[in-house]
Amino acid sequence: MSVRKQYIRGDAPSGAAVSRRDFLCMAAAGAAGGLVCGGWRACAAADAPGAAPAIREARFYEKLANRAVRCGICPRACVVPDGKRGYCKVRENRGGTYYSLVYGYPASVHVDPIEKKPLFHVYPGSKAYSMATAGCNIECKFCQNWELSQSRPEDISPAPAYTTPDAVAAAAARSGARVIAYTYNEPTVFYEYMADCARAGRAAGVESVVVTNGFISAAPQKELTGLVKAMKVDLKAFTPGFYRDVCDGFLEPVLESLKRLRGGGVWLEIVVLLIPTLNDSPGEVRRMSDWILKELGPDVPLHFTRYHPQYKMRNIPPTPPATLRRARAIALEQGIRFVYTGNAPGEEGQDTVCPACRATVIRRYGFSVDEVRIVKGKCGACGAPIPGVWG
Ligand code: SF4
Repeated sequence: MSVRKQYIRGDAPSGAAVSRRDFLCMAAAGAAGGLVCGGWRACAAADAPGAAPAIREARFYEKLANRAVRCGICPRACVVPDGKRGYCKVRENRGGTYYSLVYGYPASVHVDPIEKKPLFHVYPGSKAYSMATAGCNIECKFCQNWELSQSRPEDISPAPAYTTPDAVAAAAARSGARVIAYTYNEPTVFYEYMADCARAGRAAGVESVVVTNGFISAAPQKELTGLVKAMKVDLKAFTPGFYRDVCDGFLEPVLESLKRLRGGGVWLEIVVLLIPTLNDSPGEVRRMSDWILKELGPDVPLHFTRYHPQYKMRNIPPTPPATLRRARAIALEQGIRFVYTGNAPGEEGQDTVCPACRATVIRRYGFSVDEVRIVKGKCGACGAPIPGVWG
């Protein structure tokens, strides 16, 4: 495995105390501490006798001198000394072997409308069996799921029960979900578990979709595209400065990741959370839309969603609906054919409209789908193709 470029900034955060979130299954009552795992898995085993197997060796890493390792899952390419963890807090070096600490331990599971991901051109009106673990490979100051994403595995309380990929697939099928969605936190950090759940789900007749920040390395991404139906990528902004200052992340590798997905056999939708004064200027929206059009084409659905104050960013008020409307108008004007607004029920830009005859082919309100007029991938009114995953 070769890693050409390493994206590093900041220390791995220390484990801050965390609190319960209503919509999460699991509470997070913070255990503070350093970065070295003191044996959380052993504790989990003690809590559930016989239930916890040996922890899972990570994939896509290389061994270095002095029992250090270099992780190749995401472009951060953490070099991790023996006994330490990577930036995401869920991968640990034990004696020169790298491990995933979250394989088999979903910290949150819900059945959501697929529109909540949001994926608007994938099985409209279906259910998504949605799951997450602890950890993330960036830190957005406005993260809506920070209790999960910025936690270490041992911060999740009570400790999640061990759940095999086959058990996840069976539970998803029983729930009536059309897909398993890896979401809430960044699924790249639980790559091994996600990939195995996607394989098990496919065998059980349940496909998978990924809700991601797109900060993933080429090799794991290539493998993943063969295992899942769709990806929704959050494009946080179109300036390196926003990624650096607001997300502790990097724009360039996300754009590279999006380009790799073009024509990669997986359905792609993009979400941009518009935050007043930080990434919502008409010029930035125009540059971003232009890039999407040129690099990815006019048929990648683009969602502009409304920000609400959260986590470390509570001083900026929610996005005015007029900003969503303005961004949508710019993207449509640039030539992107399916542009939506989100987190703003009743606002214009919720429906899917046939680009040929302008008939409404999917009518939505919030996360509800009221009507679908797509027949075998074509507009029910004029027969023009509507791109997506419909069958
Ligand atoms: S997945 Fe985690 S450990 Fe691996 S490079 Fe990314 S942040 Fe570092």
